[in-house]
Amino acid sequence: MAMNIEEFRQTAHEFVDWMADYLENIETYPVKSQVKPGEVMRKLPQQPPQQGEETGDIMRDFRSIILPGITHWQSPNFFAYFNANASYPSVLAEMLTATLGAQCMIWETSPAAAELEELMMEWLKQMMGLPADWHGVIHDTASAATLIAILSAREKYSNFQVNEKGFGNYENFRVYCSTETHSSIDKAVKIAGIGRANLVKVDVDDALRLKPHALQQAIEKDLAEGKRPLCAIATLGTTGTTAIDPVKEMAEICRKYDLWLHVDAAHAGTALVLPEYRWMMEGAEMVDSFVFNPHKWMFTNFDCSAYFVKDKGQLIRTFEILPEYLKTQSQGKVNDYRDWGIALGRRFRALKLWFVIRNFGVEGIREKLRFHLSLAQGLKEQIEAHPEFEIMAPLTVNLVCFRYRPQGMEEGETLNALNQQLNQKLNASGKIYLTHTKVRGQYILRMVLGQTYLSREHVQKAWQRIQETAKTMRW
Ligand SMILES: *Cc1c(COP(=O)(O)O)cnc(C)c1O
Repeated sequence: MAMNIEEFRQTAHEFVDWMADYLENIETYPVKSQVKPGEVMRKLPQQPPQQGEETGDIMRDFRSIILPGITHWQSPNFFAYFNANASYPSVLAEMLTATLGAQCMIWETSPAAAELEELMMEWLKQMMGLPADWHGVIHDTASAATLIAILSAREKYSNFQVNEKGFGNYENFRVYCSTETHSSIDKAVKIAGIGRANLVKVDVDDALRLKPHALQQAIEKDLAEGKRPLCAIATLGTTGTTAIDPVKEMAEICRKYDLWLHVDAAHAGTALVLPEYRWMMEGAEMVDSFVFNPHKWMFTNFDCSAYFVKDKGQLIRTFEILPEYLKTQSQGKVNDYRDWGIALGRRFRALKLWFVIRNFGVEGIREKLRFHLSLAQGLKEQIEAHPEFEIMAPLTVNLVCFRYRPQGMEEGETLNALNQQLNQKLNASGKIYLTHTKVRGQYILRMVLGQTYLSREHVQKAWQRIQETAKTMRW
């Protein structure tokens, strides 16, 4: 029953109609999937079919079994985590990418993919005011990019000896980040062989930003004990509360003690498209590597993570391999991106970014970002004005952190439990989806205002629902 080209054409048209219907009616689905563990699995046959099946039958099961187990990340009522945004041009480009099915490991395996990737990284640099001498490459995730940064630092400061011989006497490297940084840093030091015990979590200030003075003290203490400070990570937009670490001060310290400085701007980096947010990257010329995810807030569907380095030769030297079967005539004249990261095989990710940037235009992207930022500001003011809600962290970009606090309720576990229940109740409604974090032991709700097709009405309705649901809470 294998499909032929005519059936493919017909089915593809039907699917496109389904896609447009889905996106048009996305608000009719519960935002957060309401299925129980194992529920999807139980509805599916446990053995693969021996004979081919009709796509119509597969599609029927997709609708009735798979879809209920999907959380609708493209819903404008999705306020959880950080967004993983798609947009119409991005989805269209992804269809083309799948159709071409090109494996873009080196320039020769699809020259246009390599050259478009190079160009898109140049465009992003211009759009975001990043240093002109940086070199960019697209990775799958910020986690992978941060691992690549730490591996690059490890090789630079071991004179490429760890790559060749293992750690030998390079075993006391130290990495620094704030207590608020993303778990991908912990994962990266584990994988890079540095060890979690050598990840130093530096204290933060009242706004949850890394304290430069505490960083300097930690480095000096380690030096006094004969350890080797290797790398520091600054976060622009921490995952908990979007705190913005002081890049310039950190960069000066890294320069003084000769450390690699990596900037993790996974979510908030997109705001650099706005000139009024460029202050976040003051000191950029002293930064060694930088990552942000167009797949979070730049309307380009997952996966698309933009990684920039100052020293391209050093990056390539860390990752390059050259078996006979990959030798080409164009070697050295073009970018062979397999040497810029971990995987050999690479998807053609630049295409969707090209479609997005061209279709929105830089001004179109700016307009949407400013709109999201103004929605966040407006919501923050409404929450502040409410006697039984409070803002729990400074608003830096488009994440509002708050909690419900009935009049007279003391700080403590009851208050935490109340907010946890509120969160669960809201999510169980299927109407909106929010997630939480804890700051200094306090349970707080996070509301991210960044979905591509979010409107003022969505935010107002959500805020209304939060207030009404809170009123029904008992403790
Ligand atoms: C989301 C996030 C990450 C991880 O991004 P992936 O692309 O999923 O690996 C890393 N750092 C920060 C600050 C984030 O917000």
